[in-house]
Amino acid sequence: MEQLRLLWELQEAEQEKSKKEHELQNIQSVLLYREKCKRVECLEKKLQQKEEEIAAEKKAQRLKEMDVIKISAKLEELNHKLYNGKIGNAKELESMEKKVFSLGREKDLQEDKIIAHMETVEKLESEIGHLHEQLKEERELLQNLKKQARRDKQTVQSELERLSILCKDLSGRIEEGLLKKYRELKKRSGGRCISLVRKGFCGICNVSLPSSFKARLLTPGELVYCENCSSLLVLDE
Ligand SMILES: [Zn+2]
Repeated sequence: MEQLRLLWELQEAEQEKSKKEHELQNIQSVLLYREKCKRVECLEKKLQQKEEEIAAEKKAQRLKEMDVIKISAKLEELNHKLYNGKIGNAKELESMEKKVFSLGREKDLQEDKIIAHMETVEKLESEIGHLHEQLKEERELLQNLKKQARRDKQTVQSELERLSILCKDLSGRIEEGLLKKYRELKKRSGGRCISLVRKGFCGICNVSLPSSFKARLLTPGELVYCENCSSLLVLDE
């Protein structure tokens, strides 16, 4: 009797242990933490991309500004020549005027492009600012989740350790032959195979057992199985 009872306790402890093992792989805070890690990583990548974009925009803007300085210098030089009265040749004057006109247009065009770059930079700066804010918030949440996940994991792990010790202790107290029988039955049933009989009912399939079973269950050394679910029956004292 005592041996069968221990066997049932072992089964319950093992069931609890496998439940905890499953739980360990599916801790809500750990899953949320992993998800949050990915989210932060994604935001960091986005931020880096935006920072590269803004650097490229600023570089392009600077190059255009240098172009405008060069064009302006050239224009000043041409205008000076044009109006100092030293050029008497009409054809030369005309060609110079044309050049001044086209350089003026080129300058306007470059200046428009500079404005466009400035607008893009402004837009990117605002996006980057927003991303920084988001990241700060998400990183704070991540830190909190990390602490929570660690705590939750430790709780499940210490529970698992306790159950492992319990299973080992129970196994050590059960006869080898019975333990072997239990392993076979467990393998075959794929789940619970030791049934605690309460008030004449099988603890696993809940079927009412014939009254003759009680006497058999009280017979030392006799293994009695439920006719319905084939579980090994143990009388609950
Ligand atoms: Zn049964």
